[in-house]
Amino acid sequence: MRIKENSDSWRASGILKRDFKHDHSEPITKFYSSKNTRKWCRGKVGVKHDVVWRAEEGFFGYKYKTGKCLHCGKIMFSSV
Ligand SMILES: [Zn+2]
Repeated sequence: MRIKENSDSWRASGILKRDFKHDHSEPITKFYSSKNTRKWCRGKVGVKHDVVWRAEEGFFGYKYKTGKCLHCGKIMFSSV
């Protein structure tokens, strides 16, 4: 039984490490070019960003939109 307990804790620590790494990678998706986070939410193909767009007005009446994804927090810009 002791061996099983050890393997469980080893496995658990591995999962914890992986989760930490996963959580940590989300805010800095810029540096992960392997995932297409610009097109897909969190880089998962087929999962679209759930973006809330907000109209903004910049200098000299230049209008644009800023959007933020509710799931991954990605901020996007779009000209009107
Ligand atoms: Zn997203």
